[in-house]
Amino acid sequence: MSTVKLINVSKNYKGKDKAVDNVNLEINNKEFVVLVGPSGCGKSTTLRMIAGLEEISDGQIYIDGKLVNDIPPKDRDIAMVFQNYALYPHMTVYDNMAFGLKLRNFSKDEIKERVNYAAKILEIEELLNKKPKHLSGGQRQRVAVGRAIVRKPKVFLFDEPLSNLDAKLRVQMRAEIKRLHQRIEATIIYVTHDQVEAMTMGDRIVVMKDGIIQQVDSPLNLYNNPANKFVAGFIGSPAMNFIPGKIMNDNGLKFVSRGNSLIITFDEIKKAALASFLGKDVVAGIRPESLSTNPVGQAKVMVNVDVVEQLGNESFLYFQFEDSQFVARTLPNNLIGNAGKITLYINDNSVLFFSEDRNERIYF
Ligand code: ADP
Repeated sequence: MSTVKLINVSKNYKGKDKAVDNVNLEINNKEFVVLVGPSGCGKSTTLRMIAGLEEISDGQIYIDGKLVNDIPPKDRDIAMVFQNYALYPHMTVYDNMAFGLKLRNFSKDEIKERVNYAAKILEIEELLNKKPKHLSGGQRQRVAVGRAIVRKPKVFLFDEPLSNLDAKLRVQMRAEIKRLHQRIEATIIYVTHDQVEAMTMGDRIVVMKDGIIQQVDSPLNLYNNPANKFVAGFIGSPAMNFIPGKIMNDNGLKFVSRGNSLIITFDEIKKAALASFLGKDVVAGIRPESLSTNPVGQAKVMVNVDVVEQLGNESFLYFQFEDSQFVARTLPNNLIGNAGKITLYINDNSVLFFSEDRNERIYF
């Protein structure tokens, strides 16, 4: 069993109060949890507090039910993999992986068995006698992971481990780490600023902003049911389109955009839920794939597409909509190979609404 629990955990730095602000989080045994958010939102600080590399200003951290606030990193039974790999350049791959075990006085046989096991599952057996400078970025990353595996820790902590790799290798390593997780059945806490990495790897994702947890959920729930406008805009690529407007009563409640170009009508259930927003400013959120060149809903808009990106399997259409920049994700379509005026249909059922003042989701 390897669980991690954070209770009201905060971190104040000199000159930066609340770098992490009252975080509560429970990570289950064998779970793969990703902390994601823009740069400076407190992900690394949270991870480093779990590792014991950063003092906790407030709150408690438990690993396997044991309070670890005052336990030094080496006694927490965790292993951390960093972005810069932190390999010893003068040591071979074998020695790099064996080093931590030697320090802990493991027997030669035990070390050999563990290093060989890790090398096998990471497919780096033929590299064991090489020095880091003779390895590619991806191979170095594997060695860094191997060094963590040999320790057989309770919890693995990954801090942006793939950000130094090129795009193709990053995609490949993403799947490898996921596969590794399934194989060794470890508890993993993984930090990244890349929402695609978070979505593809996490069993659960913790979205952070300004030191505060915005939402903790499965990838699909985050995408389909974002708790607020920040999460809605952060998760998904291309990002969700937002357009401000008001809830008005014109033969029943409607959303009317500021420039009157978009009107969305509601069914009776939604009307009832929106009653308290009558006359208030709200923001409509429309996923790029909810805009279509085919008739899919009640609402439609005429837009002037200024950029078309043809990706082969789909097309992205960029246009200005009132004061907002919009992107539509459509099937590849020869008719829209050239930019110009077209009609787009909106799947109005999929449109989300957020209160303008608090940016919170309005639930129907
Ligand atoms: P992230 O990992 O999400 O990019 P960090 O946890 O590194 O964010 O940082 C959170 C906030 O704390 C940032 O505003 C950052 O500038 C600040 N911070 C991080 N480390 C220190 C430090 N050692 N001293 C002062 N402020 C820091």
